[in-house]
Amino acid sequence: MVPALRYIRGACGPALGGFPGGFSSAGRPAPGRSWPLCQGGRPASTRSFDVVVIGGGIVGLASARALILRHPALSIGVLEKEKDLAIHQTGHNSGVIHSGIYYKPESLKAKLCVQGAALIYEYCKQKGISYKQCGKLIVAVEQEEIPRLQALYERGRQNGVQGLRLIQQEDIKKKEPYCRGEEVQCQYVVTCAGLYSDRISELSGCNPDPRIVPFRGDYLILKPEKCYLVKGNIYPVPDSRFPFLGVHFTPRMDGSIWLGPNAVLAFKREGYRPFDFSARDIMDVIIKSGLIKLVFQNFSYGVNEMYKACFLSATVKHLQKFIPEITVSDILRGPAGVRAQALDRDGNLVEDFVFDGGVGDIGNRILHVRNAPSPAATSSLAISGMIADEVQQRFKL
Ligand SMILES: Cc1cc2nc3c(=O)[nH]c(=O)nc-3n(C[C@H](O)[C@H](O)[C@H](O)COP(=O)(O)OP(=O)(O)OC[C@H]3O[C@@H](n4cnc5c(N)ncnc54)[C@H](O)[C@@H]3O)c2cc1C
Repeated sequence: MVPALRYIRGACGPALGGFPGGFSSAGRPAPGRSWPLCQGGRPASTRSFDVVVIGGGIVGLASARALILRHPALSIGVLEKEKDLAIHQTGHNSGVIHSGIYYKPESLKAKLCVQGAALIYEYCKQKGISYKQCGKLIVAVEQEEIPRLQALYERGRQNGVQGLRLIQQEDIKKKEPYCRGEEVQCQYVVTCAGLYSDRISELSGCNPDPRIVPFRGDYLILKPEKCYLVKGNIYPVPDSRFPFLGVHFTPRMDGSIWLGPNAVLAFKREGYRPFDFSARDIMDVIIKSGLIKLVFQNFSYGVNEMYKACFLSATVKHLQKFIPEITVSDILRGPAGVRAQALDRDGNLVEDFVFDGGVGDIGNRILHVRNAPSPAATSSLAISGMIADEVQQRFKL
C-alpha cells in the first residue's frame, strides 16, 4: 500500500501559492473512481500539501509515486489541468520501451533510459501488466546509412544496452520475412500497455514554458489483413540532426501495427489536428526561442515532412523502402501525439533531458522538468528516482 497521497480535483485555472506547506487547491474526489494511491493520511478535502507535482503525465505520476514511497508521512498532491490523467504525451505515444541505444553516452537520456527500461520491466512483472517482447530492427536501407548504423551500434554498446547484434541482409528475413535492408541492427525491446495502474490526480497549474516547441507526430495504421507483414519493431536509421527516431513500424498490444510517428511542427501546443492553431502559442515560441532559426536552417526538411504528412502516397513510398509490399490501400490514418520539445535561442533542439531549479522566494521552492521528450516514458521510473533525490536534497526533506 502506498500512503499519503492527497486526491484533489477541481476546475482548471492557474495554480496559486508555493510549497512546501500551503499550496492552495479546491474540490473533491470524483465519486466512484478508484485511486489506489489515495489510501491513508488526511481526508481528500485537505487543502494544503507538503509537495505538489504539477502535471499528471507519466513523469509527474512517477515522481509523485517515488516521493510517496520515500516520504510516506508527507502529503503530496498532483495537479492536472485536464479531467483525466495522462491524456497528452503519455497517452499518445508509441508505447515502446526503448533500450537506450540512440542516446549520447553519458547523457541523462542514455543513463536514465537504460535504468528506466530495467525498472519498467520489473514494475510490469510486479504488477502483472502485460507486455510484448517482440524485438526491434534498426534497418539501413541505403548504403550511406551503414556507417551511421555502425556508429549507433557502438553507441548502444557504450550505453550498456543488452542483446545488441549487427546482422546482415540475409539474416533479416529470419526476423522480418517482408523487410528489406542493407544491414540491420537487432535489439530487444518491449512494448507495454497501461504502464501505470497506480493512479494519482489532479488540478490546475502554471504557465507553459515558452521554449517548448510542439512537434506533432501522426500515426498511420496498417489494415488488420496486412498485419502479417510486420513481426516486431522496425525502425529506420535516425537522422542525427534531429532527436526524432523516424517513422517506424510498431506492433501494439492489441495486435494492430502503427506506422509513425512523423515529426511536423505544430501550430498549437496540444494541437492534435493538422489545422489546429494558436496565435498565442506560436508568438510565445517565436519571441522566446530560436524557432525562426530552426525553420530557416531546416526549411527543406520541414517542408518535406509536411508534404509527407499531407500525402499518404509520399509516406508509403518511404515505408516501401522497408516493406515493399505495403501500398496506400493497406493503411488508414490513425491518431496523433504532440511532443513537447525544448528549443534553445540558437534554434537547436535540446537533445537531453533538462531538470533545474528556480530562483527567488517561490522559485527556489520549485524543481522544473524543462525537457522530457522521448524516451521519457521509458525513463520515467529512473527520472522519478532522480527527481526524488533532488527534491530531498534541495528541500531538505
Ligand atoms: C508521438 C509520440 C511518441 C512517443 N513514443 C514514445 C515511446 O515509444 N517510448 C517512450 O519512452 N516515449 C515516447 N514518447 C515520449 C513520451 O510519451 C513523453 O516523453 C512522456 O510521456 C512525457 O511525460 P510527461 O509526464 O512529461 O508529459 P505529459 O504526458 O504530456 O504530461 C504532462 C501533463 O501536464 C499537464 N499540464 C500541462 N500544463 C499544465 C498546467 N499548466 N497545470 C497543470 N497541469 C498541466 C498536462 O495536461 C499533462 O497531463 C513519445 C511521445 C510522443 C508525443
